Amino acid sequence: MYDLKPIGIVQSAIKRSGDMPLQGVPAVIKVFDEFLEGLTGIEGDSHINVIGWFNKAERVPLMVRPRKINPKLEERGVFSLRSPTRPNPLSLSATRLTKVEGPLLYVEPLDLIDGSPIVDIKPYSSGWDAIFWARDVHSALITRHMVQADVLAELLREAYNFHGEKCGAIAVAAKIAYDAAQTLEASMRDISLRLPRNVNTHVGDGLVGISKATIGNVRLTFSEDPDVLFFTAAQSIRYRVFDVPNLEAHRVFELSPDELFERL
Ligand SMILES: [Zn+2]
Repeated sequence: MYDLKPIGIVQSAIKRSGDMPLQGVPAVIKVFDEFLEGLTGIEGDSHINVIGWFNKAERVPLMVRPRKINPKLEERGVFSLRSPTRPNPLSLSATRLTKVEGPLLYVEPLDLIDGSPIVDIKPYSSGWDAIFWARDVHSALITRHMVQADVLAELLREAYNFHGEKCGAIAVAAKIAYDAAQTLEASMRDISLRLPRNVNTHVGDGLVGISKATIGNVRLTFSEDPDVLFFTAAQSIRYRVFDVPNLEAHRVFELSPDELFERL
């Protein structure tokens, strides 16, 4: 047998896995005394990979319905899902390390419930761990099968992971991306962007983070046309973006689309 020794435990406001939002919540990892020396130097890392143990999860079956995404979806193999049900219920979360206080690691977000054992922590390296052009079925399922608020939360996460700041502008980008993907009936991963040279750079970053369009993959080009964004799949649509309100991302989500942009 393999000998697995927890190195710490999760402190979270969420006590039941059914209450855990897909995006996770801020949490604290309390590292046990005998492993404290292993934290030496960790405060220099902005992000860490946390490997935890879903101690309340079932280990069977191998086919699971991704209920949190949509209970109507078909069953899929557990190795193509992030479901806690798996033969070895290990969790893997890349998360932001916001503060270190002795044995306490403050992280945001984490999708492990209160009391979950942590089995390992490794530094997250964007050069090694972030494969920008990766395609995955999981995020495609989210954007196709969840309600608008959950899809926007997912798009905001992708924009934030690229941009590095959860500002109102990337929430505007998420709202436009959502509208464009719905209108063009295409995934943002398949849509090309044409951004005005005078684009709000935060909105531009958000759209690149969501679409994975780059200059190199020829899905990102620039236009001299001031203020107008083009999105192209089988067809094209154009948007004019209004001045970005000076609000936090979650407040921007409360605004109606026509307060933020117009489809031309
Ligand atoms: Zn920003």
